[in-house]
Amino acid sequence: MKRKLIIISNDAMVREDMEYLLTKPLFKQLIKEGSWIKTMKTVYPSITYCCHASMITGANPAKTGVTNNNIDGWRQADWMWERKYIKVKTLIDAAKENGYTTANVFWPVLGQDENIDYNIPEYWSQTPDEPLTVALKRMGTSDKVIKEIVEPNLYYIDGHQRQHPYCDEFIMACARDMILKYRPDLLVVHPAGIDGKRHEYGVFNEYVTEQLDYTYYWIEKIIRALKETGDYENTDIVLTSDHGQIDIKRWGCLNVLLAQAGLIETDEQGNVIKMRAYANSIAASGQIKIVDENDKEAYDLTYKLLKEGAESKLYGFESVFTKEEIYEKEGLSGNFDFVVETDGFSAFDGWSVKPPYFINANPADYRLGNGTHGHLPDKGPQPTTLMIGPDFKKGVTVERCDSIDMPVTLAKIFGWSLPDADGKVIEEIIND
Ligand SMILES: [Zn+2]
Repeated sequence: MKRKLIIISNDAMVREDMEYLLTKPLFKQLIKEGSWIKTMKTVYPSITYCCHASMITGANPAKTGVTNNNIDGWRQADWMWERKYIKVKTLIDAAKENGYTTANVFWPVLGQDENIDYNIPEYWSQTPDEPLTVALKRMGTSDKVIKEIVEPNLYYIDGHQRQHPYCDEFIMACARDMILKYRPDLLVVHPAGIDGKRHEYGVFNEYVTEQLDYTYYWIEKIIRALKETGDYENTDIVLTSDHGQIDIKRWGCLNVLLAQAGLIETDEQGNVIKMRAYANSIAASGQIKIVDENDKEAYDLTYKLLKEGAESKLYGFESVFTKEEIYEKEGLSGNFDFVVETDGFSAFDGWSVKPPYFINANPADYRLGNGTHGHLPDKGPQPTTLMIGPDFKKGVTVERCDSIDMPVTLAKIFGWSLPDADGKVIEEIIND
C-alpha cells in the first residue's frame, strides 16, 4: 500500500510551545509514537515565504529565489503567492512525478501549481468586496475544490478573513475535509494563529497559549479524520514550523536613513523623485539594493552609512553584510547588495522615507508588531518538529538539525529525488 504523508507547518511554533503541547493527552501519545527534533535551524531571512520555499525544496534561499514575502522591488505590495517564484523542484513535484496525489491548504508560494491536484494556496481577497472564492480561483483552486471543500467551510471566516483563529479554523476544516473526501497521498497545511498572536502581543503570553490550545484541537481533528478513513497507521505525519519570533521594542525606517544621506531624494510632500538605493524590510532584517549596479559611488556611500549605523547601534541593526558575505554565511543571495540584521529588539518598516526614523508599533503590520522575525536563524526561540508514523523511529529525540534537512529526509523515505536540495538526511529518526 502506498504510504501517505501530511506536513503541517504551524507558523512560528517553537520548542517551548511543543513542551506545552506535550503536557496534553494526544501529544503524550504522539511523542511515544514518533521522533522529536527539538530545535531546527531555519534559513535566513527567517521570514515565512522564504522559510516555506526552503522547507518544501530542501534548498537554501539563494537557490529557491524566495528571499522575502513580497515580490522584489520598490514598494511592491504583492506577495510571492505563486509556485513560479520557487526556482527549484519541490517535494510536491517529486511526489507527482512518482504517481502520488497531492493537496495543499495554505502552504505559501504554491498558487497556480499544476502539480497539486487539490489546491487551496495561501492567498486572500485583494479588495474588501472580492469574495474569497473568486480570489482562490484566480490562484488555481479548482471549481470542484471550491464547491466541495471551500464553500462548506466559508462560514468560519465570514467577516474575519485574515484574523486568527477564524482563518485557522477554516484552513484546518478544509484540510480535514480533503482527507475525508479525497484521501490525498501528500497533503501540506499551514495554519498561522500562533504567529499572528506573537506579532500582536509578543513571543510568550496568554494569547499565544490560547492559540496552542486551538492548535491541539486542530491537530486532533486531522488525526481523527485519518483514523476515520483508515489511513492513520499508513501515514507519516510531520508537525513542523518555519521560524521563531523575537520581542520587539523599537521600529525603524531604513529608507529614512537612506533619504537623510541623500540616497533617496523627495519633494516637499515626501514623494520620491530620485533614488540611488532603497531598503526592503524583512521585518527583523533589511535588504538594501543599489538601483544602478554601475553606481559605485552610491554603493560605497551606502556601505559606509550602514557600517557606521551598525557600529553606532543607533538605528536598530547591529551588523551589515555584503551580498558575498551573507551568501557565504547563510546561503542567502538575491536582488540586493547589503543585508542589515536586527540588534535583537528592533524591526524595520516597509517603505517610509519621511522622518522620524523610529515610529510606533502597529500590530496590524507583521513588520511592526510586538514580536516579529526575519532575523538570523540562531537568534531567539527556535522552531521545532515532531515526526510520527510508520517510517519514523519511536521515542527518539534529536537536539538540532537544519530545517532544510526535513524535506530531504522525507524525500529519502519516499524514494523521491530533490536534486537541488542543500539539506542532509536525518538518518537517526528513520526506521530501518
Ligand atoms: Zn511564518
